[in-house]
Amino acid sequence: MVAQRLDGKACALSVEEELHERIATCVDAGVEPHLAVVIVGDDPASHVYVKSKVRACERLGIKSTHIELPASTTEEEVRGVIHRLNKDTSLHGILVQSPLPKHMDEEALTDLIDPEKDVDGFHPENLGRLVQGRLDGMLPCTPSGVMRMLRWAGVELNGKRAVVLGRSRIVGNPQALLLGAKGADATVTVVHSRTKDAQSICSQADIVIAAIGRPEMVGLDWIKQGAIVVDVGINRVEDPSRERGWRLAGDVHPSVGDKASWLSPVPGGVGPMTIAMLMQNTVRAAEQSMLE
Ligand code: NAP
Repeated sequence: MVAQRLDGKACALSVEEELHERIATCVDAGVEPHLAVVIVGDDPASHVYVKSKVRACERLGIKSTHIELPASTTEEEVRGVIHRLNKDTSLHGILVQSPLPKHMDEEALTDLIDPEKDVDGFHPENLGRLVQGRLDGMLPCTPSGVMRMLRWAGVELNGKRAVVLGRSRIVGNPQALLLGAKGADATVTVVHSRTKDAQSICSQADIVIAAIGRPEMVGLDWIKQGAIVVDVGINRVEDPSRERGWRLAGDVHPSVGDKASWLSPVPGGVGPMTIAMLMQNTVRAAEQSMLE
């Protein structure tokens, strides 16, 4: 079997098409959706991600404000920036790019963002709503992008056995909640670094979402024939055959494509969906601001 491609790029394009109309409605009502992206330090991958987010804003006609701070910035200074952005009524979304330099408490800073402007969906109020099974808050972009991509491909989740590899605050845990929520109705197992016999658990799943940050760890023998596999991982691995000396690899080995019924590529799978969902959250925040 050759897996069908879970094409995140194409799905993200369909999300953007929907957003064009919603953005035009906001602008007609005198509200220009506006996202602030804060980046601290010089992590090269983070700068690439921020550039993609700013480019998506430009494509859609969402205003973006890009705030770049040096790695030497203090946590107190970042707090000040977040407070200022919270008060700015022309702004609808605030994103603080992860990872922050090691001397900062990333979670404490996330807690300061106004939940209504928390377009990453990481604020405890938004994650808390998700835990309560309320899907009407700001949902974290990567896991909600995966859900959107599965729906787009017509994947039926009801009653299916799903395994989420990883239990992080930003991907694995919210992903498990979304898959098991009413309406999605999958039966979910979460696998983490202390799980015994992860491979055998995974090999019984109808749906596998890999978000562990371990290049190509999920091999052919982890996957049941015909399973649906979503690869969230983005890892840089050495590749002397490339001029730049590295390539991007997912958490899933490419050979899985011989056994799965659907497989998302890296790059071009979950990555574009994460950005599309960020744009959707920003537009939603702008729409909400018009109701107040
Ligand atoms: P993270 O915070 O490092 O979490 C990794 C999770 O994987 C942890 O729960 C960890 O378990 C688990 N894990 C690690 N090694 C394992 C193993 N050998 N077996 C089973 N579980 C294992 O990472 P993250 O932020 O969730 O990101 C995961 C991956 O997704 C990374 O490659 C990241 O770059 C990528 N990512 C992609 C996007 C996108 O837009 N495509 C967005 C976000 C992240 P413990 O909890 O026990 O430590």
